[in-house]
Amino acid sequence: MSDFPKFFMDLLGVVRLDRRVPSEAELQAFHDWVAAQSKVETHVHLEAAVGEDFYLSRQPPREWSECVPWKRAPFQNLRGFIGAWVDLSRSVRELNDFEDMAYAFVAKRAEDRILYTEAYISPADFSFIRERFSIAPEKFDFESVVKSYLRGLRRGLAKFADVQVRLTVDALWISSSDERETVWRALENIQSSPEGTDSEGEPFIVAIGLGGMENHAQIESQAAFCERVRKLGLKIDIHSGEGGDPEMHLKTLEQLQPERVAHGFSAWTSHRRIADNVVMCPLSNILLNTFQGAAHEHPFFECIGHGLPVAVGSDDPLLLGTSLALEYTFIHAVTGNGQNIFETTQKNARSGILASAAGGISKSVAL
Ligand SMILES: [Zn+2]
Repeated sequence: MSDFPKFFMDLLGVVRLDRRVPSEAELQAFHDWVAAQSKVETHVHLEAAVGEDFYLSRQPPREWSECVPWKRAPFQNLRGFIGAWVDLSRSVRELNDFEDMAYAFVAKRAEDRILYTEAYISPADFSFIRERFSIAPEKFDFESVVKSYLRGLRRGLAKFADVQVRLTVDALWISSSDERETVWRALENIQSSPEGTDSEGEPFIVAIGLGGMENHAQIESQAAFCERVRKLGLKIDIHSGEGGDPEMHLKTLEQLQPERVAHGFSAWTSHRRIADNVVMCPLSNILLNTFQGAAHEHPFFECIGHGLPVAVGSDDPLLLGTSLALEYTFIHAVTGNGQNIFETTQKNARSGILASAAGGISKSVAL
């Protein structure tokens, strides 16, 4: 018997209707092989990639709006997922929680043998978004939250010496110009301070991101913001083409010129177009219902078949009940060629990293 979650077994049942699927024992052996490999991951959210024990050790709400957030997948849509994310965030009540969370994230990376990660952090959710939607009474200053994450990261990396992590700070698709100004000022302060760099002087923050519901209404002001951010030496790493309007996704690529895109599959079926540096998360797209076709027809499989430089990410493993190893196991279930695809996509992830290849980074990425 395998340890796979129920949704995964259900998914295998569906894939099996279309093709031969490796046996459960073979899939379990493949999963364990991937789990033991040294890995790179370039799309995951730090807040949803620690164990549930982290959140249970804080002050969870007395009552959740539904069941606990990490038991809600599969979701009906992205909105349902965002509801779970917001609920999860309510357990965070003190500034030190971000430090502890970042430390717990590094510890989990070490346990999962993911030795180099570029991870999203979402300080806006605990500062101006928390205030805007009255999510929880405790509100934090944006820059203080980022600095708290950085303290935890520094502590974690000192303890788990074979792990390396760099960060993308989510500046959100839906944000006001005042909020973007807050993000920019914080980044300007942090990037030029010792708090923002490792012992070799390399910055921990390598990019800004755009996450949450895709919203192109302010694309021109987002483009201007991206230009300002680039002057701080940061790259652009956005969520786009996560199942939404393909035309808007292509317009976004043209206007923002991001160095990396998460998901990015929406224009594949209609236009055969994909970003140059894209991280796909097929299980995440299936569990959020942002990809609505048959599971084995997820565009990832065609893209990889065409030799496009696609990497694989786990996105929000805690909330989805997945892991990077399970994403790869799903790929093996569909293709029977998981080991080759693992090697190719890991190489793609390494060539798509946003951190400067200088200093200690190149060492850990080379693995
Ligand atoms: Zn994501």
